[in-house]
Amino acid sequence: MLTTAPTPTPPTAPVAAEPAAQTAGRDALAAWRQAIPTNLFIADPSLQHLLRMYLGEDGYEDIAPGLAAFGSQVMAEIDPAAAINDQLENHPRLERWDGIGRRVERIAFHPSYHTAGRPVYETGLLALSARPGTALQQSAYFYLLTQCGEMGHACPIVCTMGMIRALQTVGAAELQQTYLPPLIATAYDRKQTAAQFLTEVQGGSDVGANAVQAWRDERGAWRIRGEKWFCSVANADQMLITARPEGAPAGTRGIGVFLVPRCLPDGSLNHFAIRRLKSKFGTRTMASAEIDFLDAVAYPLGDLSEGIHIVTELVLNTSRWANALGSCGLLRRATVEAWQFARHRHAFGGPIIDYPLVAEALAEMQSDLAAALSSTFRLSHLIDRSDLGLANEEERSVHRLLVNLNKYWTSVQASLGIRRGQEILGGNGAIEEFSILPRLYRDAVVFESWEGSHNVLCLQVLRDMGKYGLHAHLFRYLEGLLGEVTAAGLYTTRLELVQRLDEMQRRMHALLTADATFQQAHVRRVLQRLATLIQAICLLVEAQWELAQALPTTKPDLLDFFLNRYLRSGYDPIRDFDYTDRLQRIVTGFVPVSL
Ligand SMILES: Cc1cc2nc3c(=O)[nH]c(=O)nc-3n(C[C@H](O)[C@H](O)[C@H](O)COP(=O)(O)OP(=O)(O)OC[C@H]3O[C@@H](n4cnc5c(N)ncnc54)[C@H](O)[C@@H]3O)c2cc1C
Repeated sequence: MLTTAPTPTPPTAPVAAEPAAQTAGRDALAAWRQAIPTNLFIADPSLQHLLRMYLGEDGYEDIAPGLAAFGSQVMAEIDPAAAINDQLENHPRLERWDGIGRRVERIAFHPSYHTAGRPVYETGLLALSARPGTALQQSAYFYLLTQCGEMGHACPIVCTMGMIRALQTVGAAELQQTYLPPLIATAYDRKQTAAQFLTEVQGGSDVGANAVQAWRDERGAWRIRGEKWFCSVANADQMLITARPEGAPAGTRGIGVFLVPRCLPDGSLNHFAIRRLKSKFGTRTMASAEIDFLDAVAYPLGDLSEGIHIVTELVLNTSRWANALGSCGLLRRATVEAWQFARHRHAFGGPIIDYPLVAEALAEMQSDLAAALSSTFRLSHLIDRSDLGLANEEERSVHRLLVNLNKYWTSVQASLGIRRGQEILGGNGAIEEFSILPRLYRDAVVFESWEGSHNVLCLQVLRDMGKYGLHAHLFRYLEGLLGEVTAAGLYTTRLELVQRLDEMQRRMHALLTADATFQQAHVRRVLQRLATLIQAICLLVEAQWELAQALPTTKPDLLDFFLNRYLRSGYDPIRDFDYTDRLQRIVTGFVPVSL
């Protein structure tokens, strides 16, 4: 008798209807995703107000259409491409040799990298560097870009901005002719990017310990020899490198700055070899490498004995400003995501945004974001004034001090704020495919050490105050800002800030007249307070402007909340009697929607 094997029963699909509660939960999540703005510029009245305040109506109208177009492109094109690009299997790869065994040291990118990059360069964001007085416009573009956590291009953009500034200011005419035009090109396939390599394996903070050497060959051409340990934008066409020319003194005084082109004039690869790409916690779509310079051909950028000043004032100060803009961008996106999530997520019978502890977390994020934007756009305004030759000595001093202080503090605000946002998302806040927040957090951690660690920046500010008395200029500048505030509704807050500024001047005097060990032990605490005081005063000025324009504003409440957090001490039931009402006003006043 023939027997046949029984036909296996096909596995049944999970057809059971989902319980209503689960469907409702999933629908709420879908509604949350739907509520994320499709145009980051249109959905951001705070950004629009800041630009209008600094640029006036005509200046604002000139740049708003470009920003509105980019605000939509960021979400429609760059955001999805950046998410694909950040997946582990799509990260940049090192290809050291070509098919026939020639050294190429090429970085291969996933197609999504280029999808993300094309619209960025086409905005003309880098071309703006050729036009003095456009720092606020550049800031707005960069702030919008970083809201999608796209670091594969954001980092090269920043490095390129620094190289452009160095070339414009100290580059020899023939270097400018050859190397500037491709850096400001807007066509993605023709543009070039730059990198900046200072850090060596023995340490990044102590640039004076740099050991990479520069020497002259028999034809008088400069050559670079040695290893750089952290080389972001390893695909860069132009590398700005610190190196010690032969015979130069030890320490920072002996540091020179050079431009090292990736390729030599005949098209062949310059003399360098990439050891490996680093496997990084954040900013993973951008390639960071360890690179050996094997007598690479180099061109001096400016006077070689002025290297440390060139690198600090032109390059690092540019990147520190941009770093702060990036921190604002990351924090803005996290705030929008968390705010919308809290509106749609229900627990214990209601949306979680109604619970005071959630509202408080959102208010923390919102007030830190407003504060970070405030100090950073103030910095952009100072850069514009300086580039247009309008800044006086006081403003130049404030810029020098703020660029370091603000980079430190905004990077801390971004990391803390994004973590707060992850907390609002609950366990989902730790899941990569659920939201952008884990990626934003990883990037924010890198932002904290990029362009100078916290301590190093605080010590730089301390030195600038002790040696050049920059704090005196800053205090006068802040007094001037407070003097501009005349709105009756802001009178009490203004008075309080006048007192806090007075207190700060006494504190600073005590710090600066103490011995060096005491100064270093306390400087970070004092500077954190100073940074928040600067932000509070900038917020007050903005509140005054918004009130004068009869615009809807949450700034007075945000500022009050901010002062409670950072500059007032302890819980005060009399002062805080309307705490939950204020939270409510802050939280409901944040309406990130786009048309
Ligand atoms: C992803 C990534 C990409 C990077 N890309 C680049 C790049 O392209 N080019 C580049 O040049 N660098 C790059 N860096 C390096 C970065 O700039 C450095 O990490 C940073 O400057 C700190 O240097 P370090 O890591 O060597 O730390 P160190 O200098 O060794 O410092 C270690 C710790 O000691 C503290 N410290 C040091 N000195 C003092 C002091 N006097 N008082 C108190 N505390 C002190 C620091 O604050 C820090 O907390 C990159 C870093 C990362 C993470």
